[in-house]
Amino acid sequence: MKSLAPFQFSIACKPFVKSRGVFSIMSRILDEVLAANRTYGATFGAKGQLAMPPGRRFAILTCMDARLDPAKFAGLAEGDAHVIRNAGGRASDDAIRSLVISYKLLGTREWFVIHHTDCGMETFTDEIIRSLLSQSLEQAVIDSEGWHDRGAGPGSDAGEFIDWLTIRDVRASVVTDVRRIRTHPLVSPTIPIYGYLYDVKTGVLVEVPEATEIGAAAATA
Ligand SMILES: [Zn+2]
Repeated sequence: MKSLAPFQFSIACKPFVKSRGVFSIMSRILDEVLAANRTYGATFGAKGQLAMPPGRRFAILTCMDARLDPAKFAGLAEGDAHVIRNAGGRASDDAIRSLVISYKLLGTREWFVIHHTDCGMETFTDEIIRSLLSQSLEQAVIDSEGWHDRGAGPGSDAGEFIDWLTIRDVRASVVTDVRRIRTHPLVSPTIPIYGYLYDVKTGVLVEVPEATEIGAAAATA
């Protein structure tokens, strides 16, 4: 597990809110989202005519981290590409389901796996999140000693049945995930899969050469 310092800082900056406070914050967010959408819809224009298949024929699998905006860091406009996101950007069964549909039915021909520095998935293990969830379903907090649960409970042991796909090393996880996709029986060998790390301090994509090598497409006849 990596150092918790940056993640701890971001948590510490958030005020602890009681249940009524949560409601008021959520209402404000709802208002903000709907207002932003009214503005977006007012200038939607020709985007209503976009075709369903991605126009630039590629897909990105990446983390849900709020600091990553694939449209911006990869230069995407509406209709350009598929972006599949989950915690860690892991090549889970469900991510592969989406990638297979992306190629087989919707025409993408190149795929990126993009993990990133300072990923929250490095801050815990299966054992830690299972233990936290077994204590309560409320939000956990983190300090210099790690994660702690402070909810009243009850929790649930259902977390024992989930593989949380945590990360020990983000370069290694890119390699592992590109390899898993490359060797999946439902993935065409003709699709190149590129492995990259996004640096949250610079916004720059850094190739993981071992991953890209593993992800290379088979030579076509
Ligand atoms: Zn992440």
